[in-house]
Parts: sequence; C-alpha cells; structure tokens
Amino acid sequence: MRSGSLASLREGNRRLVIEALRERGVASRAELARATELSRSTISTIVGALIEAGLAVERDGQPDGEAHAGRPGVMVALDPSAGLALGIDFGHRHLRVAVSDLSHSVLAERWRELDVDHSASEGLEYAGQFVDEVLEEAKVDRSRVVGAVMGLPAPINHVTGTVQDSSILPGWVGIDAVAEATARLNLPVAVENDANLGALAELMWGAAKGRSEVAYLKVASGVGGGLISGGRLSHGVGGTAGEIGHTIVSADGPVCRCGNLGCLETLASTRAVSNLLSISRREQVTTRRMLELAAEGDAATCRLIGEAGRAIGIAVANLCNIVNPECVVIGGDMALAGDVLLNPVREVVERTAIPSAAADTEIVAGVLGERAEMLGALALVMHESERFAAPGLKEAA
Ligand SMILES: [Zn+2]
Repeated sequence: MRSGSLASLREGNRRLVIEALRERGVASRAELARATELSRSTISTIVGALIEAGLAVERDGQPDGEAHAGRPGVMVALDPSAGLALGIDFGHRHLRVAVSDLSHSVLAERWRELDVDHSASEGLEYAGQFVDEVLEEAKVDRSRVVGAVMGLPAPINHVTGTVQDSSILPGWVGIDAVAEATARLNLPVAVENDANLGALAELMWGAAKGRSEVAYLKVASGVGGGLISGGRLSHGVGGTAGEIGHTIVSADGPVCRCGNLGCLETLASTRAVSNLLSISRREQVTTRRMLELAAEGDAATCRLIGEAGRAIGIAVANLCNIVNPECVVIGGDMALAGDVLLNPVREVVERTAIPSAAADTEIVAGVLGERAEMLGALALVMHESERFAAPGLKEAA
C-alpha cells in the first residue's frame, strides 16, 4: 500500500511536469516548480528522468519575466522530435494502430476488422504491417519510437505482460505477448488491458478529466472495464481488476465464452444485442445498423438496448457499492446509443446501489469513442516511458 501510494505520487508529479511543459512549450526548472507547486529538487529529479528517457531536452534561453542580466537560463522543453509513441489496440473484432509525437498529435493511423478468433501470430502479423505503414506515412524512422503499448481485450499480468485468462482471448493462449510483439515489431513493447487504456484516455482527455476515482466500462462486442483509484490505474494483484464483463448478472443467463452462465457480456455486448435483433428482424443486423435503428427510435431496438442497460446497471450498482467511484464512464460502441442505454443504467443504479454510493456516482458516456483505447495506449507510452528506457528492453528490441 505504502509503495503503491508513493509510486502514485511520483506518477502524478511526473504528469504535472509534463502537462506544464506541454502548456508552456519551454520553461526553466524554477518556472516548473512554481507552476506545479513541487520542490526544486523534485523538479530536478523528474526533469532528469525525462531527459534520460529522451522525452525532454535542455535549451539555452531566458525564462519569461525573470531575465537575470548576463545569465542565460537553462530551459527545458518536451522534444516532439526526440521520440514517437506507437499505440496498438486489439479489440475482439478490430485492430487499430497509430503513431503520435510525444505531444499526442496523431501522425498516421490504420484500422481493420479482425476475425474474433484470430490467432496471436496472425494479429501480430497485421500489427507489424500497420506499424510499417504508419511509420512510412508519417515519414519517421523506427529508431525514433520510444515504445509501443499494445492493448488486448483480456486480463493482462501487469508485471509479466502475459494474457491471464486464456478462455477470454483464446487465440492468444500461452503467448508471452510482450516478447512476441517486441520481436515481431522490433520495438520495445508493453502490453495492457484495452479497457484500462480506455479508462486512462477518458481520464486524461475525456469524460473523466479532473476526476480521480473512476470506473470505465468498454461495452463493445465484448465488455471490459478499467478502474482508476487515486488518479492511477488499478490492476489488482494479477491484472484482473475491473473485469466487470465477466461478473454474473443473471444466474441462469446465456453461456459465456469464459464458461460461466449469465456474465454481463452475454447480455449487454453489441454482439449479444445485435444477435437478438437479427433473430427478431430476420436479417443480419450489424452494430452500426443497430445504432441507426436506435437513433430512429425503433421500438424493438430501444427495448433490447434498454435491457442491456439494465444488466449493466446491476453490475455498476455492485461496483458502486464496492469501490464508490465519483464517475462511471460508459464507452465502446454501445455507448453511442446515448441515453437509450444510459438512462436504464442510471435507473437501476439509483434503485439498487446503496443510496450514498449511488448519489456519489455520476454515470456518463465516454467522449473519445472507438479511438479511446488507442489514445490510451499512446498516453501510456508517454507516462510510463521508463518501462521503455530500461536497458533490458532496449537490448531485447
Ligand atoms: Zn464470462
């Protein structure tokens, strides 16, 4: 607990310094100390680590408004040209790859559909092609990439980077995702759960900006979740924290790919709802068509999405009782249904969560849409760049 909160404090401080540099462009260490209200020695340590990791550079210059005659100050700046970040987001049915500079401006991006049962080697092959393509389109050299973060829709061991539960992502059974991806991409790679990345992105730029106790649900063809506590991702001891999609909300519900009956995912995923809709309409209904029908106010579609919302509400009410978040962000494709989905979630939470927990929690739609996970991957490269600066990783690449 102690070391966790210390790490959380360090991460928070580092983020403050990066944000201050991003706002100012260049700043002296003294300016950074004033802007962040951190001590000069803390600033020196953080700036030293950023320079070491190739994220910041020193420049000669005069700090604004504090020109000391004849003494040019040493200024610090984030150096966009010093490094690039790669984000790789595997969904159940898609792959998205982007390269950005370290101010998070996306330089090039690719997307494709994937078969839900794709193998790891197949997925990595596509990812490798996309990485080559985005680097070429952005006209940048691979050697300038600080690191790549790869999101996978399964619990990921935070320390080893291995896929924890093979039944949730069968095509990646027994794969050391970090080692395989590092070898295939010839880059230092870290692996993270996709919904954790979505949570991070919504925290930094989206619906949860400025919050610190946040739960994020990715409701797409699978249902995942990420928890933020004290402004920091919460992984649990083995990386499974936040797997809300496989909590049971109906004891005699449909069988889930994880082997249980009545998991939230079997009732609330876009796949579950569009399958039911396909049966009732006697035609194949895609997620996009389902969302169009919802927007048109189609009664059956709204009813089925409402049922999905009520199932999500049961899981979220339990979550509110247990972790007492200030904000629950519902993201993923299903969130595009807006209040057709969210109002039933809110009703069930209000009715069934402990009143004080329900009152504390705002339930909102994500604002970053289908790019949230990929943006979170780019953010994580920046914020955990020390993972990539480690000599072992550089050598492995
Ligand atoms: Zn399940």
